[in-house]
Amino acid sequence: MEKVFRNYEDTDVNAAVREHYRKMRKRQTYDYVQRMHGKYLKYDKPMHLWEAMTHLNDLIDVSDPDLDLPNVQHLIQSAEAIREDKRPDWMQLVGLIHDLGKVMFLWGSDEDGTSQDEQWGMVGDVFVVGCAIPDSCVYPEFNQLNPDMSDPRYNSELGIYEKHCGLDKLNLAWGHDEYLFQVLRNHKENQIPEQGMVMIRYHSFYPWHSGGSYAHFLCDKDKDYLEWIRDFNKYDLYTKCTKTYDLDEIKDYYLPIAEKYLGKGPIYW
Ligand code: FE
Ligand code: FE
Repeated sequence: MEKVFRNYEDTDVNAAVREHYRKMRKRQTYDYVQRMHGKYLKYDKPMHLWEAMTHLNDLIDVSDPDLDLPNVQHLIQSAEAIREDKRPDWMQLVGLIHDLGKVMFLWGSDEDGTSQDEQWGMVGDVFVVGCAIPDSCVYPEFNQLNPDMSDPRYNSELGIYEKHCGLDKLNLAWGHDEYLFQVLRNHKENQIPEQGMVMIRYHSFYPWHSGGSYAHFLCDKDKDYLEWIRDFNKYDLYTKCTKTYDLDEIKDYYLPIAEKYLGKGPIYW
């Protein structure tokens, strides 16, 4: 039987996933997101890419109904599938690192939802804060729990944004995508092409890339974004399996690619 992905129906595993999304929808407000930007985007913690990879050996993503392996295994599975399809080396690297923003759990906290135990500020499908939350989100029944949805500044279709302002102007729920994107954007030696940076930044934005919501915010270049993201999503989602790898064994192949696009020095997190 073919494996079904992103099945959120009632099962024991999904009770935890559902609870994760309840907290996430309730606590990811516009103010919370601004606070997290201020708190986590300081770029004052040097750590090499490969060391960050090893830390994801310790983290299991609670929002993922498809996989209960350490997150680093998902990263390697994605990268290997991209490599098998003979896609460009930078895209293989993006596959390998796209979830690396989850290292924020190393300096995160339960209150912020950025810890091993509380992951609602770190993982899961994201939505736009500062405007109405669409029903295309998983568990839309939780949307009304968000205090912004009873605040007239934030609960209309446009909210604080202008029509067709473009994706890059929106504030998304805080999580690993935006964190890694900003860390790499701040990294002087970063040579990852724009497509790769977009794949990193928007891969969890399911209500847009799969749900078809937020059309009123899109600008011309977001059409390209959507194409890139959908291409990447094949490898992010459909490669999840039980096959595991040893991080040391793949290092000889991937580290030189990482150094080509990100240099040899540490990254400032
Ligand atoms: Fe992710
Ligand atoms: Fe992923």
